[in-house]
Amino acid sequence: MKKKIVIANWKMNHDFYETTSFLRNLLKIFFEKKINNKKKVIIAPSFPFLHISNQILQGSSLSLAAQNICQMENGSYTGEVSASMLRSIGIHKVILGHSERRKYFSETNDILLKKIKIALKYGFHIIFCIGETALEREKNEQFLIVKKQLEETVFHCSSLEEISYFIIAYEPIWAIGTGKTATSEEAQTMHRYIRSLFIDKYGEKVSQKMSILYGGSINDLNARNLFSQEDIDGGLVGNSSLEIEKFLKIIQS
Ligand code: PEP
Repeated sequence: MKKKIVIANWKMNHDFYETTSFLRNLLKIFFEKKINNKKKVIIAPSFPFLHISNQILQGSSLSLAAQNICQMENGSYTGEVSASMLRSIGIHKVILGHSERRKYFSETNDILLKKIKIALKYGFHIIFCIGETALEREKNEQFLIVKKQLEETVFHCSSLEEISYFIIAYEPIWAIGTGKTATSEEAQTMHRYIRSLFIDKYGEKVSQKMSILYGGSINDLNARNLFSQEDIDGGLVGNSSLEIEKFLKIIQS
């Protein structure tokens, strides 16, 4: 069965106090409302707070993801954080390929492939983001773009075991942080296409189990509609994950 997953990508938001109090409150609400772990909820806070966050969430159904890792294993790379460092504090999920990393930090598909290899070497589950720009969609190139992004990165993985470590997040760039959301039909069409690419390459079994999430201005009002689509297995949420009330409504959708 595909897992229903909601991921909060906090980006460069929430300081120490905000992070810890959010997580403690969320746990309390999960307990009081008896929200069970059929839905998987993953939070991606900033690097400095992953350790304390992991301690707070110990024994709960909530888990954590890092927002990035370095493509190098270790060594003289000032300012970077390695996969092994994250593993040493109990983190084993990572978001890779986010459009903000591609745009502001020049992460190419080549670099992302290196990050994928390091992440897999250290046993990380990878939330891999793909998606087209507004211009590419205007030119009806969205399918080509998404296919190319996968071919140059994830599709280099040859084993079914490796593929089982991926969650794909389709995030049309024109929808991220803009308040514009893809319609449920647009998103479903793309998700079905993405799944068909995985089926062609890796077969039905692993591809039908793969969670393909939608991301791009999900909020408490549009989540239910998006998540009711057959090939949309949950969401990667930016802005609306920063407020506990909104985020809870999205989880419950
Ligand atoms: C994101 O950055 O992954 C994202 C989906 O952001 P937002 O929900 O704010 O559009």
